Amino acid sequence: MTRYNLTIGGKSVPTSDHFEVRNPSTGAVVGLAPSGSSADLNAAVESAQRAFVRWSKTSHDERKKLCHAAAQKISDHADEIAHLITLEQGKPLNGLGSRFEMNRAGAWATYTAGLDIPVKLIQDSNEGRIELHRRPIGVVGSITPWNWPAMIAIWHIFPALRAGNTVVNKPSPYTPLSTLRMIELINEVMPAGVINSIAGEDSLGAAMSEHDGIGKIVFTGSASTGKKVMSSAANTLKRLTLELGGNDAGIVLPDVDPKKIVADLFWGSFINNGQTCAALKRLYVHDDVYDDLCKELVAFAKTVPVGDGMKDDSQLGPVQNRMQFEKVARLVDAAKKGGGKVLMGGETQKGTLFYPITIIADLDNGNPLVDEEQFGPALPVIRYSEIDEVISRANDNPNGLGGSVWSTNIEKAREYGAELECGTVWINKHGPIQPNVPYGGIKSSGIGVEFGEEGLFENTNVQVMSS
Ligand code: NAD
Repeated sequence: MTRYNLTIGGKSVPTSDHFEVRNPSTGAVVGLAPSGSSADLNAAVESAQRAFVRWSKTSHDERKKLCHAAAQKISDHADEIAHLITLEQGKPLNGLGSRFEMNRAGAWATYTAGLDIPVKLIQDSNEGRIELHRRPIGVVGSITPWNWPAMIAIWHIFPALRAGNTVVNKPSPYTPLSTLRMIELINEVMPAGVINSIAGEDSLGAAMSEHDGIGKIVFTGSASTGKKVMSSAANTLKRLTLELGGNDAGIVLPDVDPKKIVADLFWGSFINNGQTCAALKRLYVHDDVYDDLCKELVAFAKTVPVGDGMKDDSQLGPVQNRMQFEKVARLVDAAKKGGGKVLMGGETQKGTLFYPITIIADLDNGNPLVDEEQFGPALPVIRYSEIDEVISRANDNPNGLGGSVWSTNIEKAREYGAELECGTVWINKHGPIQPNVPYGGIKSSGIGVEFGEEGLFENTNVQVMSS
């Protein structure tokens, strides 16, 4: 069984304790992850602080070159890491699974490596010259979740490094192996200490949030943990980017052809088994097309193969962990008790993490499957007849990550979309993101954005030079 090490100060660092990482499809142990201690965390932060002295002064061209080399390493090893993701996370190798995740990770890494951080000239006159510079912050602590473990780590690491910070990453204890391996690869091309990893219990994340050697935390995970991160970061006034949970609404207008939109609706909702922050989690459908759309959704869902992610034809795998599985089961039970009509799925088998694709009709706001983030393969479909009233139902939720409107009338759809309280509105699609477009949540879904220039700049402090 492979024992994985931490990466600290440019070296591969073994730990005395390890913990087992299991394949959610089979229960088999996939590898042994290092159980880092608070002393390991301190060593990682100190090595990152030392490396920052030179890395922050390294020229933009040199940093770009090394970030590109790191991106190339990731791409060269994409299939190896994709296998690790499938083994520890459960998602299929194919479809919108781990190979897709690594393809996207490579695209984000490459794009971010090439971004510029220009000096902005604010004034150049007889009164003087004023420039706005963007300086790196210091050590960035990155805390990542288990749903898209490798891609989200890339989203955190590359902008931080490109802007001149050094990084300590802590992956989720459910899926640490792919990230630890990726960090080993990045470390091969970076100066010692620029990239470091720490793995182990959740308490390490809390220790990072309050660590006075860390200048910024970028955190992706649940809103409840995000609030803890924010409160423990307060003492040191750390910079924060928080990408938290979502409960995205999709609104289908009466003018659609259900057959034409069903595939995009299904995958917008069930990508990665619904374990995606910006998946469509509440589907509001106009009365005129409600029955037809429900029928099309079920027919489409029946064609999607669910199975062990290592099998070539699997399109969806298991739920990643028992806690999440139980949450989905609890919400589906509440939906049934609340009068929901199960159109498909809804029954579980003992001793497995495979949760069937579940579609439940005739629910409404107030039911826990609608109000809470299910983060699993169970979609509530809600009937409406008045557009104004459905927009307020869609907004009646603490989350505000994404939302979508589906219609043949794009202008109308954009108009309604503008009323949704969320960071991204999609028209006739749900979930596509790209490295040059800022992405983030409002309300309880987060603080700040990632991606593009705006995301990169969150890894900098503004310094004004006035002469
Ligand atoms: P989680 O909050 O349980 O864990 C996320 C990370 O935080 C893990 O590395 C965990 O070890 C660490 N952690 C746990 N307790 C901590 C503490 N007290 N202080 C600091 N760190 C701590 O989330 P999860 O279950 O891994 O991920 C699922 C959630 O993440 C969902 O709500 C999902 O919507 C959200 N998510 C959001 C985005 C986004 O971009 N907005 C992307 C992916 C996932």
